[in-house]
Amino acid sequence: MFATQSTAETEYPPYSNLYVNDYAAIIDRRDETYIHDVLEELRTETGIEFTVLTIRNTALYDHHGPIEPFATGLFNHWGIGNAARNDGVLMLISRNDRKMRIEVGSGYGRTKDRPMKRIIDDIIIPAFRNDAYSRGIRSGVDAVIYDLTGHYPGEYDSGLIEKSVNRVKRLGAWLFAPFAAIAGGAGLLFRRWRRNRPRICPNDGSRMQRLGEYEDDAHLKDGQQTEEHLKSVDYDVWTCGQCDHVTIESYRSWFTRYGACRRCNYRTLQGDTTILKHATTNATGLKRIDYYCKNCQADYSETKVISRKSSSSSGGSSFGGGSSSGGGASGSL
Ligand SMILES: [Zn+2]
Ligand SMILES: [Zn+2]
Repeated sequence: MFATQSTAETEYPPYSNLYVNDYAAIIDRRDETYIHDVLEELRTETGIEFTVLTIRNTALYDHHGPIEPFATGLFNHWGIGNAARNDGVLMLISRNDRKMRIEVGSGYGRTKDRPMKRIIDDIIIPAFRNDAYSRGIRSGVDAVIYDLTGHYPGEYDSGLIEKSVNRVKRLGAWLFAPFAAIAGGAGLLFRRWRRNRPRICPNDGSRMQRLGEYEDDAHLKDGQQTEEHLKSVDYDVWTCGQCDHVTIESYRSWFTRYGACRRCNYRTLQGDTTILKHATTNATGLKRIDYYCKNCQADYSETKVISRKSSSSSGGSSFGGGSSSGGGASGSL
């Protein structure tokens, strides 16, 4: 029998850069350089610490559930922003969770909730829906900087004429936003249409029928039924009324906490984490993950190193110790 005392505890990724840490590898090199430079300029000119972080999913850090507490915890763990003004900003994208958040320091109160929501909904998410992650993040960074300072990057010292020139150039991104939103919505409709459109039997050309959630079980293997039950994979079974042709299509859930089992390969693997040794700033920690497969009952453990806590004394390359009380806005795809 499988038994464990699990103390799942959120850990946070360390940062290796003050401005952009692209752990999900979704920002292209040119945009990463641009974002780094404008955020460095923002910090030099205004003292505002604004940092961008992309991760694959929060479960990697033993956080299961909404992105908001993870963002606030990370913000405070890193100490983003000046400690007296609490004016830091974190843009967090969790790619596989399909969630994002712009978290702001407690100095802003709730005044930024609405403008950040608008930037997420009108600028960033429409780009993401077209798989243009890099462009969406870059335009979002520009828009947040404009909201915070009233200036676009590169304009802190420039005269009025130069400013209006830049504004006209950037207006392009804003004008584009509604079209991107329409295209994004169309993408969603297209995926729905593609899943629901009638299937034609290759043997006799007749229209196939999609079976209901209960009828389809007869055509699914035990492992597939378990996946459906756990909602990690959804199956559509199409049958032909004229012959015995059957088509099975699988749709993987973005939100599942079940991984793929090493033995049976179904996405029916549950993992419970036990911290064996906490990480400190000088030493790595250790954790054990106990896996249990709800399909084949495989039962195995893995020990993993927890990376060192980010040091806050590494020669000027650290955040100012600011904190957040949960202000900002979230979005999902
Ligand atoms: Zn047929
Ligand atoms: Zn298994």
